[in-house]
Amino acid sequence: MSVAEKNIVLHVADVHKHFGGLHALSDIDLEVEEGKTHAIIGPNGAGKSTLLNVIIGKLAPSKGAVVFDGQILTGKKPHEINQMGVVRVFQTPEIFPDLSVLQNVMTPAFAKRDGAYRANIWKPLEAETEIREEAEAILEDVGLHERRDVHAGALSRGDKRRMELAMCLIQHPRLLLLDEPTAGMSRHDTNTTIDLLKKIKARGMTKVIIEHDMHVVFSLADHISVLAGGRIIAEGAPNEVRGNPKVQEAYLGGAHDLGAHSK
Ligand code: ADP
Ligand code: MG
Repeated sequence: MSVAEKNIVLHVADVHKHFGGLHALSDIDLEVEEGKTHAIIGPNGAGKSTLLNVIIGKLAPSKGAVVFDGQILTGKKPHEINQMGVVRVFQTPEIFPDLSVLQNVMTPAFAKRDGAYRANIWKPLEAETEIREEAEAILEDVGLHERRDVHAGALSRGDKRRMELAMCLIQHPRLLLLDEPTAGMSRHDTNTTIDLLKKIKARGMTKVIIEHDMHVVFSLADHISVLAGGRIIAEGAPNEVRGNPKVQEAYLGGAHDLGAHSK
């Protein structure tokens, strides 16, 4: 057996979440390894979004804790958790439709470097040049560089998502969380998004992705946790999970083939 140590970036430890009498999450334990893409799948109402909201601090667990990078997140505010490098994609708080794509991507970086502005009157110019260069490089990566001067409000849905991803990447996340990143997208935009997420993965960024689309899950995930009725009913490598009859039954009610879109 390999003695290589796993580096666990995120540990959800015995988390429960009740809404009154409703047990949205029970006994949730999961570990996310550095550099991996960890998918959380399950039917509607399984508790996936609730789990994500507990991780980012939007919801307090009724019991248990979330540990990120050795620090307990539970009890911290969402913006504090964000400052620690936990970034949720496609929930960008503010997009400025009248500003250019480039300006939109630069904005989160300015917000983070605010201190530098006050420290030295010459810093703003230096910082702006640096941030602009980085924003341009990221726009190149997400395939939006040619549209950098377009008003964000004029972007297509697919391009807007690319811009939102760029706005997250400029924050240098240590953990990227995605809640159904391809929901409502055409097959073409879905495939472009998969390619983009693969590219990020190649750089070693750790991701937790909640996804309905099996094509997306099996294209990206290293590890899958299956939620049903607020509990993790199975987990493992994609092929293990795919072949698990319990998963087929609980997740899909036996009506679908888990591998249908993944060949
Ligand atoms: P999923 O994202 O897997 O579809 P959710 O996490 O959104 O599931 O919901 C899990 C369960 O918790 C559902 O039964 C849902 O109705 C309930 N729920 C989610 N958020 C709240 C809330 N704020 N108050 C009460 N019940 C909620
Ligand atoms: Mg959800």
